[in-house]
Amino acid sequence: MSSLTTEARSALPPATGAGEPRPALAPSSALRSAGTESVVEATSRLFAHDCFCLTDLRLVGHPVVHASPALADLTGYAVEALTGRNLGFLLRNDTDQEAAEAARSAVESGRPVTVLVRAYREDGALFWCEQRHYPIQDGEGRTTHLLTLLRDVSDQVHAASAQAVGQELSGSLEGDGRFFSYALLLHDDGRAELAWASEAWRHLTGYGVDDVVEQGLERFVHSEDRELLGERLSGLRHQERRVDQYRLVTQGGRVLWVEDFATRRWRSDEAGVTAVYGMMKDVTNAKREAAELWRLAHVDALTGLPNAHLLEDRVQQALLQARRNGTHVALALLDLDHFRFVERTFSQRHGERLIIEVARRLRRALRRTDTLARCGTDTFALVLCDLPNERSALPVLEKALAAVRERYQDGTLTLQLSATLGVDILPAGTRSPSAALERADEALRRAKANARGGFRFYDAKLDAGMRSRLELEGELRRALSEDQLVLHYQPRVQLDDGAIHSVEALVRWGHPVKGLLKPADFVPLVEEAQLGPRLFEWVLERACRQAQRWQKQRAPKRVAVNVSPTALASGELVRQVQDTLSRYDLHPGLLELEISERTGHETLEAAAGTLQEVRAMGVHVALDDFGIAHSSLTQLRGLPLDGLKIDRSFISQLDGDGRAEEVDLLRAIIALGKSLKLRVTAEGIETKEQNLLLRQLRCDDGQGFLFSHPVPAEYVPAFA
Ligand code: C2E
Ligand code: MG
Ligand code: MG
Repeated sequence: MSSLTTEARSALPPATGAGEPRPALAPSSALRSAGTESVVEATSRLFAHDCFCLTDLRLVGHPVVHASPALADLTGYAVEALTGRNLGFLLRNDTDQEAAEAARSAVESGRPVTVLVRAYREDGALFWCEQRHYPIQDGEGRTTHLLTLLRDVSDQVHAASAQAVGQELSGSLEGDGRFFSYALLLHDDGRAELAWASEAWRHLTGYGVDDVVEQGLERFVHSEDRELLGERLSGLRHQERRVDQYRLVTQGGRVLWVEDFATRRWRSDEAGVTAVYGMMKDVTNAKREAAELWRLAHVDALTGLPNAHLLEDRVQQALLQARRNGTHVALALLDLDHFRFVERTFSQRHGERLIIEVARRLRRALRRTDTLARCGTDTFALVLCDLPNERSALPVLEKALAAVRERYQDGTLTLQLSATLGVDILPAGTRSPSAALERADEALRRAKANARGGFRFYDAKLDAGMRSRLELEGELRRALSEDQLVLHYQPRVQLDDGAIHSVEALVRWGHPVKGLLKPADFVPLVEEAQLGPRLFEWVLERACRQAQRWQKQRAPKRVAVNVSPTALASGELVRQVQDTLSRYDLHPGLLELEISERTGHETLEAAAGTLQEVRAMGVHVALDDFGIAHSSLTQLRGLPLDGLKIDRSFISQLDGDGRAEEVDLLRAIIALGKSLKLRVTAEGIETKEQNLLLRQLRCDDGQGFLFSHPVPAEYVPAFA
């Protein structure tokens, strides 16, 4: 873009416009009928202060016969250098034609003609030069001379051409005030100068056009978008066009979104200026509508939660994050059980309120970074992000289910809700959110078929063992919160007189599908899932409550509670025991804790302080399963104990061959216990022979099927 476009040129204000230097007299009439001498004299006199030259049309080549000092100033040429040659020598080639055309037309029409040309100064610099030709006739009506007034209009050209395009852009649009157009001059030195602004600025912002022309656009742009504006301006120095949206602040302080469409129109290398014309319109409403449309398309109207569309997007994001961090994503679909029933029996409004409440509860159960979406009438999706392992989804899912199960009240309607979950733990590298959703859906269908109120995992990637363990773990968490566990009690019999002064609390799980499960089926899982302290608390609570009942019935029994390794090491044990004892106002001597020798010596030693504290309260401590880990005498001494329970395996061996050896071993164990002043119990006594022998060996207590299986509490007093 090296030369001015036609529209810009024609847009230059007419030469007779206000503020323009005009000759004092109309040259044509003043000089008519004068001879060459007198024409030169007359022009010199009349236009002494103007920038002009006089061309003699009668001479070959139409040379300049007189040039004013002002023209010498303008062009840098000496007056002598300007005279004697055609004015065309000042011009740039591409405007020669037009200049010649203009001169000819002035001569032919006998009227003044103005032309805009690009001229060179003596030093080679180009400038925009306005030439106004006045034909001068002699007495016979022949045009003999051409008086040309010249002026440098470079500045006006730049600004005016911007204005012209501004006007062209605004045109009819200006009227309704929706479009604001402007012309901007980007100077190579980095300045951006607003050369022209349309009236619509006032409609748009409430400010005057002068305000923006004087202070520049930036001052009206929202502070957060100024950086964008800067980027935009520097971009326009080399980009042909740009469309940006940013915010303006109106005079009233209102924030307005505008869309600004700008094109580069011309560039003057000489002036070091790039002209940009822009058009701006208010898109606030459109933006708002777009946001609203987006909301309608992505957000569930009832709950305000993301809907199924947005869900896919969120899953996608979670997957990306998981890939980056090497973590897992759990996608769970939660379906309310019996929701249709509520809707049918009560009303749709009831149903809606219920959904809103469930959404609220679920949202609370999740972390902020997790996504909760509603993707069906009574179906929600939970996206748990950034999980360190598969298992870490479980506590959150359990929390979600528990939140749903809280009692629900709506007027007279009271409900105990429940929900079923289908879960897919998305393996690292999963790319398709929709496939993941399908898998979660399949898991949900499976869960609804056989695990209502609980959850099922999709099993493609998880091996069967892992899957059932995860599911069992989920169920176990639920069992703990829903009281599916029960305690049975096995009496401990004083061997010399058959008296029952204590019982051992043994946990069982009344699994809704699998029936009554023994500890061996789930206690290891409890440990793996770090649920030991929770199980302990549960058992301790029930056991103490039962002990208190027996105390009240005047048949007091010490209740022994098994403490798992994680419960022992949790750091919670002392507090748990203290709290529970005081809650039930139970004599500490009526509680015994059984620590298994299997726990391992390191853990046991580390827990010595804890056990010491518990004993200091008056609670008994016994070492369970003794004999298995071959503890040494020193190790035993280091533990604060009241009792020793010989593992069942030593007792059952008594029936086999080589009895004498076993008896010796047993005798040694009992002696060891006694030497440490511990009360010794033999576990797993099933036969009278075993019982007899242990009595002979002076074992203190016995426990086993011979006396009683573990039984529910109400059957225990019968043995007292
Ligand atoms: P334990 O503490 O040694 O409990 C004794 C186990 O021996 C009980 O099995 C009991 O039913 C069984 N038993 C008692 N007498 C006989 C008998 O004459 N013959 C045979 N064959 N078995 C007998 P149970 O209830 O299945 O418990 C197994 C183990 O699970 C317990 O061994 C204990 O370590 C653990 N456990 C039980 N309840 C709890 C609990 O509440 N918390 C924790 N952490 N562990 C528990
Ligand atoms: Mg035990
Ligand atoms: Mg035992």
